[in-house]
Amino acid sequence: MTITIHRGNQIGGCITEIVSSKGTRIFVDLGHNLPKDGQESEDEYASDEAIASLIGDARAIFYTHMHGDHVELFQYVPDGIDQYIGPLALKIMKAKYDHMTYADDLKENSLKCLKKLEPFKTYSKGRPITIDDITVTPFQVSHSSADSYMLKIKCDGKTILHTGDFRGHGYMGEGIYKVIDKYHIAGHVDILITEGTNVNNTSKSMCPESELKEKFKEEFRQYKNIFVLCTSTDADRLESIYSANKESVRRPFIVDTYQKEIIGLISEQAEAGRRLYHFGPYKIYPYSPTNKKMDYMMRRHGFVMLIRSSGRFQSYLDVILPFCKPEETCLIYSQFHGYIDKREGNSAFNQNLYDFVEQFREKGCAFKIIHTSGHASRQDLIRLCEQVNPKVIIPIHKDGNADFASILPDELRMRVCKFDYSKDRVDIFFDPAQKFHASCWCQAMGASARGYRLYSEDTDK
Ligand SMILES: [Zn+2]
Ligand SMILES: [Zn+2]
Repeated sequence: MTITIHRGNQIGGCITEIVSSKGTRIFVDLGHNLPKDGQESEDEYASDEAIASLIGDARAIFYTHMHGDHVELFQYVPDGIDQYIGPLALKIMKAKYDHMTYADDLKENSLKCLKKLEPFKTYSKGRPITIDDITVTPFQVSHSSADSYMLKIKCDGKTILHTGDFRGHGYMGEGIYKVIDKYHIAGHVDILITEGTNVNNTSKSMCPESELKEKFKEEFRQYKNIFVLCTSTDADRLESIYSANKESVRRPFIVDTYQKEIIGLISEQAEAGRRLYHFGPYKIYPYSPTNKKMDYMMRRHGFVMLIRSSGRFQSYLDVILPFCKPEETCLIYSQFHGYIDKREGNSAFNQNLYDFVEQFREKGCAFKIIHTSGHASRQDLIRLCEQVNPKVIIPIHKDGNADFASILPDELRMRVCKFDYSKDRVDIFFDPAQKFHASCWCQAMGASARGYRLYSEDTDK
């Protein structure tokens, strides 16, 4: 078996290639590079020719989740190759591109993407899919993107566990450890391929998502008019904000038609008998600047409104902000702080987003940051490695200078694979981008590719 890690030494743009000894080739994720310096991201694989040459005779592509830095190159995959993703993730992707067709400059590419998504196949948690002599079994994990999975891959008698992006401090964060126990994965993994986004993050612990809900409640009680700048595809964050409102002030919950559709899709897939992700019964209103009744309701009762940095939301704010008293109004910024951190050398900085946020501060509104990472803390990375106890550990999705091995206890440190490796009929290669990409731009955790300007909330940190 041959495993090739493409671009493992950067955050985003993830691609893992697995070829069995009989020549069956599959890929896990075809991620687009993340943008830097507020520019649209560039990617050497973002063309039909480049992807055709990269994936060659691949039989299938498995996507761990729908963040652009894992999935966005799907649009270049030749027809006839099976592409798999979670069922809710597929619905959300279709909704996203469908909404993007309304923007003139994005229409053409969005229609192409919608066409490419049509033949997509979906996998189900715990159900193995066999591609010749390779079997892939997905298991759901907690991440800042709804419907995320890790993959257990059996090939040539060996077991690979590919975590995708995950975290232990989400509402379902403990799930990954339970699944590893329940399905007897622990102790039976030859190669663990794990994300390492937070290896360089020295915070003692990550704030659990459940605590964010309490923080939202505190602010909701203090201010009449609340704007929350957040991602629309993070089921946990939507749950925190929606429940905080429901359990405290019960103000009108205002979104746009895109967010309303996504929330509806998440709600539809929410497990019966589980408290989480059922967005109801309190009503969710899609904003309309011409709706007089809504205008009256918002002026009278205040509101909790989800917003994004976009031309459409700016036009909404031009109507709403003038009637909001600054002392009664708060913007809660609920995504990666790096996007609006002006400090020099911060390649994640996004001037448009910064300006969008600044207008609230200039007006004298309160400004709060309520956010927690979508990725595993150092403690969770250690816990995972200890529990799985694999023979070999391959860290990916990490800063170029992040030393994954350094966070592990001695007995595991030696198993971290940093260089090309060949042993016991397993060959592991790191593509040139990994070997020579020593310096890293990848503090940038924004979304990628064309179109992300409009739906820039689709972030990955
Ligand atoms: Zn990612
Ligand atoms: Zn992600």
